[in-house]
Amino acid sequence: MILLYKNDKIQPSFKPDATRYTDEELEKMVSAAPTNQSQPDTAFRSMMQAFRRNNMLSTKTKDMAKKEGALALFSMNARGKDGTLFVSSGGSYKATDPEGLLDIMLTAEDYLSLCRLAKAGIPVKLELDVKTQFYTEDLKGYNVLAEIKGTDPNLKEEVVMLGGHLDSWHSATGATDNAAGSAVMMEAVRILKTLGVKPRRTIRIALWSGEEQGLFGSRNYVKNHLTDADTKKSNKEGDKVSAYFNVDNGTGKVRGIYLQGNEACRPIFTKWFEPFHDLGAKTVTIRNTGGTDHLSFVGVGIPGFQFIQDEIEYNTRTHHTNMDSYDHLQPDDLKQAATIIASFVYNAAMRDEKLPRKK
Ligand SMILES: [Zn+2]
Repeated sequence: MILLYKNDKIQPSFKPDATRYTDEELEKMVSAAPTNQSQPDTAFRSMMQAFRRNNMLSTKTKDMAKKEGALALFSMNARGKDGTLFVSSGGSYKATDPEGLLDIMLTAEDYLSLCRLAKAGIPVKLELDVKTQFYTEDLKGYNVLAEIKGTDPNLKEEVVMLGGHLDSWHSATGATDNAAGSAVMMEAVRILKTLGVKPRRTIRIALWSGEEQGLFGSRNYVKNHLTDADTKKSNKEGDKVSAYFNVDNGTGKVRGIYLQGNEACRPIFTKWFEPFHDLGAKTVTIRNTGGTDHLSFVGVGIPGFQFIQDEIEYNTRTHHTNMDSYDHLQPDDLKQAATIIASFVYNAAMRDEKLPRKK
């Protein structure tokens, strides 16, 4: 067994685990300057670079451990404490790559205790009982798509899309990342269906797979259906997509929307939020946000948006952890989000023009 000695210390937290945006924080976002990630793909590229760097380090560590004859490797992540484990990387996904070394994430307290004992030269005996399985029969990812058909003879070929990713990490059921987003988008469509609205444009919901490994579901959908192979910009079908709306930031209610640098949409969205000020949603910021499926659309010039959501415990407790289970969902927040998004999607499907493209 291999333990990497870490100097990490558990720091007590003097901040609450769960937070909501304050009015001051939201006001700052309204007047924010555009993020200099004006290149639509920059955020995605830097995310992938960090991802690859981490993978390389982990592969090298495991190679070294194997050479030393280790049976298993123990890891820790100092962000997790009081029972929360941040667990998200099990090794390579390639079918042709060899099985990784057994890698077990320990709580920081247990890990650091073992380190102290080992450092003091005191032998440590551990018993492991690990049951796991590799699913190798079908290595494909699957997106789920559904539509409410448009009814205007001139606009029904055009599409308003909404979605979120359906895949999650293994250490819990993935309630906030991203069952919450998937449920909110399904509920938004259910609301529209129940109301019997007749949208002018077609409304299309997509639940993506493979987001956690690199936005694979949405990127390949956009590449295969909406992108011109030569120019790498949206093709004729892509030009018919008015916008894509995404939810993937946990259980928190909608407080506003990131314009992703698309200033022309500011007055439109500001107006669309007017009926929802009493539900706490009105902030429209020019800023970009990254790390999820709207980037696949933005990358080829289709307006793609992610909503500003209250953090709740997303970064402290649930995102990619063993705590990401049903009990951490906030039903009233999710209902608020579904209501607002149903309205946004309906407005986008009904307006005379598609949403403006970024200059
Ligand atoms: Zn996610």
